[in-house]
Amino acid sequence: MPELPEVEVIRRDLLPLKGRRIETVEATDPDLFESPLTPDGAEDKFTGQKLLDIKRYGKYLAFQIAGGWLIFHPRMSGKVQFRDSPPGGADRSKLIFKFEGLTERRLYFTSLRRFTRFYWQSKQDLLAFEKFKGMGPDPFWPNYTWQNFKHGLLNRRSAVKTLLMNQKFIAGVGNIYASEACFRAGVDPRKKIPEIRRRTLKKLYRIIPKLLREAVAARGSSLEPATSATAYLDASSRPGRFKFYHRVYGREGEYCVDCGGRVKKIKQAGRSTYFCSSCQQ
Ligand SMILES: [Zn+2]
Repeated sequence: MPELPEVEVIRRDLLPLKGRRIETVEATDPDLFESPLTPDGAEDKFTGQKLLDIKRYGKYLAFQIAGGWLIFHPRMSGKVQFRDSPPGGADRSKLIFKFEGLTERRLYFTSLRRFTRFYWQSKQDLLAFEKFKGMGPDPFWPNYTWQNFKHGLLNRRSAVKTLLMNQKFIAGVGNIYASEACFRAGVDPRKKIPEIRRRTLKKLYRIIPKLLREAVAARGSSLEPATSATAYLDASSRPGRFKFYHRVYGREGEYCVDCGGRVKKIKQAGRSTYFCSSCQQ
């Protein structure tokens, strides 16, 4: 599932499309379009419009035209690829944009497992989108401050790793980066918030944007081989390399990069957590 860095890589890849006019739009699969948006409505709204901006909040990607925003939530296996031919295999395109002046290349939105969603937001203020209202600060947005982070910790009783994945606390962090952040902050992922020292929480606060920036620089984490239909791919259909820089995630039984102990894997709230029991207390 793409997390903040993977969606950010796609956004940056697509920025050269800013200012281009959308010439034709093909939309299918009404189940993926959240009311009031429909495939026909999307075709009507976007045909002939200029793409004004592309932004990201949490794990959502947003495309601005004069009347508002198309908001794309990839969820499990959604992809956005800018290519000369339709992505093959079981990935069927749900939305296709053709841009003026570009003959072969099109923007293909695909969703293998059909959990992906498209939303329409008519207000120009992107953060007014109802799904964003209940979300915590995004580590790449100005609302990510120690003040807001600290405020989000109030009355929390859950394990730290589980809280990091809660989008109401922070927007954009999922299973991979929650495990990696706990390792880098030296905190046991099972530790409950009230048991964690303020110094460690502050370290966690500082480490998260740094970790996510490193992941963007390595173009995100693709866990499966690029040929797998569920693998994360960037807008050019290439996998990211950050997996090779993971210190704990996916490294069960391997040596810890810091102490030489073994990385452990446990289940927390139904998800796999990786950690080093000697480095993380
Ligand atoms: Zn260790």
